[in-house]
Amino acid sequence: MKILVLNCGSSSIKFQLIETDEQKRRQGNESRLAKGSVQKIGSAEAQIDFQAQGQKKISHTQPIYEHTTGIENILQRLVEPEKGVIKDVEEIEAVGHRVVHGGEYFSRSTIINREVEKGIRDCIELAPLHNPPNLWGYQATREVLPSVPQVAVFDTAFHQTMTPSAYIYGLPYCLYERYKIRRYGFHGTSHRYVLLRLAKILARPVKELDVITCHLGNGCSIASIKGGQSVDTSMGFTPLEGLVMGTRCGDIDPALVPFILEREDLRLEEVNNMLNKHSGLIGISGLSNDMRTLEDASKEGDQKAALAIDIFAYRVQKYIGAYLAGMNGADAIVFTAGIGENSPMVRERVCKNMDALGVEFDSRENARLQGKEGCISRESSPVKVFVIPTDEELLIARDTYQCVTEKSG
Ligand code: ADP
Repeated sequence: MKILVLNCGSSSIKFQLIETDEQKRRQGNESRLAKGSVQKIGSAEAQIDFQAQGQKKISHTQPIYEHTTGIENILQRLVEPEKGVIKDVEEIEAVGHRVVHGGEYFSRSTIINREVEKGIRDCIELAPLHNPPNLWGYQATREVLPSVPQVAVFDTAFHQTMTPSAYIYGLPYCLYERYKIRRYGFHGTSHRYVLLRLAKILARPVKELDVITCHLGNGCSIASIKGGQSVDTSMGFTPLEGLVMGTRCGDIDPALVPFILEREDLRLEEVNNMLNKHSGLIGISGLSNDMRTLEDASKEGDQKAALAIDIFAYRVQKYIGAYLAGMNGADAIVFTAGIGENSPMVRERVCKNMDALGVEFDSRENARLQGKEGCISRESSPVKVFVIPTDEELLIARDTYQCVTEKSG
């Protein structure tokens, strides 16, 4: 089955065409036929990148003013003679969408029908920047591929197994009742992907595993997974909570918001912007949100870059400690996403001195491992440490396949 995976943002569409079936899924050898993106939708100079499997990336610009045209364009590339990868768009049997917020409505991936569409719309107030473009992607696809089933895969769904002790804030309870103010968590597809992959590596059932998964990319979150279910995670009502990230501040004293508003004479919107876009690594270092730049600068003696890395790593360590306490230990810690997969330095800072908690870190193995899967703890380590590259698109394709075949089966 050929599945188109779409991740629609306000001015962009990222896509992959993935081929899977029962056997490929079981063996984990699905084929990625093509991938690419449409950027700067809404302008006369939208950029289209298209890469067929085993071929070079082709890029060009053209006017694209709405998502429907963007998706039509992707379909045209997919069927283009010689450069494309399928003969007819009818070969696409299902479409899987990344949807950011499923609120309390969705605890698993689901085929989108009228009721699900309404559920996603009802969550717009929880994710005003993300859910609307996710819905446009669904609606645009319905226009161009009207008879193809579409599936929503939610960033929040995996964390719906958290209990109130983890998701209720220390605020008046009526705020939860009135506005559903609670912790939701994000990056669920990534945390679940690396969990499932870990179960394969260890050859153990998922429901026996206690794991701490660290998704460290531009956005960063950690999940505490007990018996294969998320019991806590560092992002909350929005992705701003928790770890120090590329541009987001993570946990801060909430009293700082009114304090900064007054002292800096800022509007609320400006403070919000500061916390989301000008804080974290870039805010502390004054240099960059890119960990590579900070690592280079810190080696050359830039003290603020070094401080940003220290703060980043210490926050990760603190969360791991909290989750180890909450679960009374763990089988493994997993690092994933841009920083988690590629920065031995950050992983070392986080794990080096945690032997009292059962983490026997293998520095040499860690230094060797960049951008690929492997174990970076000693064989004797009670808590294993792994690097597992994430693949959210693949999990979206797998979920889509499962939803579609369950329905027809
Ligand atoms: P996004 O959340 O946008 O998908 P990624 O998962 O691609 O982000 O992660 C981006 C982060 O990964 C950036 O901070 C980048 O500096 C970092 N990164 C990528 N490669 C390396 C590397 N070789 N060493 C250190 N950090 C890296």
